[in-house]
Amino acid sequence: MKKLLINGEWIETKDYQALYSPFSQEKIADIPKADEKDVNAAISAAYEARGKMAKVPAHERATILEKLVDLISENKEECARLIALESAKPLKTARGEVARTIMTYKFAAEEARRINGETIPMDAAPGGEDRIAYTMKQPVGVVAAITPFNFPMNLVAHKVGPAIAAGNTVVLKPASQTPLSAYFIAELLQKAGLPNGALNVVTGSGRTVGEQLVTDERVKKVTFTGSPEVGIGIRNKSGLKKVTLELGSNSALIVDEGVDIDAMIDRAVMGAFANAGQVCISIQRTYIHESIFDEFVEKFVAKVQQLKLGDPLHEDTDLSALIAPDEADRVLEWINEAVEQGATLATGGEKEGNMLQPTVLLQAGEDLKVSCQEIFGPVVILNKVASIDEAIKRTNDSEYGLQAGIFTNDLSKALEAAEVLEVGGVMINDIPTYRVDHMPYGGVKNSGTGREGIKYAIEDMTELKLVVIKK
Ligand code: NAP
Repeated sequence: MKKLLINGEWIETKDYQALYSPFSQEKIADIPKADEKDVNAAISAAYEARGKMAKVPAHERATILEKLVDLISENKEECARLIALESAKPLKTARGEVARTIMTYKFAAEEARRINGETIPMDAAPGGEDRIAYTMKQPVGVVAAITPFNFPMNLVAHKVGPAIAAGNTVVLKPASQTPLSAYFIAELLQKAGLPNGALNVVTGSGRTVGEQLVTDERVKKVTFTGSPEVGIGIRNKSGLKKVTLELGSNSALIVDEGVDIDAMIDRAVMGAFANAGQVCISIQRTYIHESIFDEFVEKFVAKVQQLKLGDPLHEDTDLSALIAPDEADRVLEWINEAVEQGATLATGGEKEGNMLQPTVLLQAGEDLKVSCQEIFGPVVILNKVASIDEAIKRTNDSEYGLQAGIFTNDLSKALEAAEVLEVGGVMINDIPTYRVDHMPYGGVKNSGTGREGIKYAIEDMTELKLVVIKK
């Protein structure tokens, strides 16, 4: 039975909800359902602690984060096991997430030491003579962090890490299906010496807990990763708070003529099927030059058929269950609709128990759900194009714009793609799924607003204050 973390104390609630493994459907924990009073207490604790936290010197904030890095490193396997258990992410992929989480907190520790303002040349304007001015970046105060299920540890790190680095306090609401790894990190942060009230963790329904966080006046910044539908609702309710939204996508990969398919095919398969496609930058659409289309399809499908479905806790599993049984049914419906409307099913397309086979569709129309909405499942579409211009046009014909990838040997085509693709990040000679944790990361269009990647997240978790001194 888990407890809420409020003001440094582990608190029981009136109501609990059973948490089930998405793979086995066995009960794995009882999770507290915070009520209005609990959420209010968590916000109050963060609000009261904000002055104390703002005064913790940068080197101490960095040291706390460095200790957290050590503690996660000592408990790597436990972290990976928790992620695999609660989210059905295969163990080998979960280990990758833990390694990235460590890097994210390492970068946060480093950034804590270099949050600085600048001096302003006041005499550049008439009336500015005899004045010295400088800016400082001060913590905003209380940050509400709302996180999704698909990277339950690293996406918490992308919010808690920069918030602490900048001297803020946090109320964290993890996804209802994946609270265990968040609670574990909170325990480790306590051990690392984080002051009471600096991190509070509340679990419960997104609609109630989340809405209360987003509408409370004492919260100054909302950082959200999740679906566009919820993100847009949050934006509309947040008033004047700073808001960062990291939302979904239907990311595209473009493959030009003359590309060495053998050299990139494994990455393409990984980009489409890692975590059963439940990745915001999962490859969903591919646009492949007609001169290599047949070879690409043959080699891609052969690799996909080698992927192993199974228990997320088994060492050799590549794909496991989706986050919920009705998700597998939804994705299957979309696949069937695509096939009925003329797409070719090259492999997959069936459920195995509560798992969905990795599925490849060929030549799916742009109006189909599998093309224009976010699938968030183990499905990829391979489309044939006559030119890179056509591929770029079709990539941009989307309401989303998170990242895109283009493989080409032609520098001018690569640079043209970099310029005109409507996304937050263009990966040249790599898949759109590429991410390391200090790079600026975020989307345009319905994929969100704002950027993460520690340094960039800190920009929006601090207030710029100007000081002008008249000599
Ligand atoms: P989700 O359903 O939008 O939930 C995300 C979080 O929001 C959860 O903690 C959820 O709580 C909470 N929530 C739900 N309703 C809310 C409300 N009305 N107000 C405030 N909070 C609310 O998303 P998900 O299914 O967990 O995650 C999948 C989505 O995340 C996909 O669209 C994916 O592309 C996106 N994503 C984006 C990025 C990125 O960096 N751009 C990264 C990863 C994932 P409950 O769990 O209790 O409902």
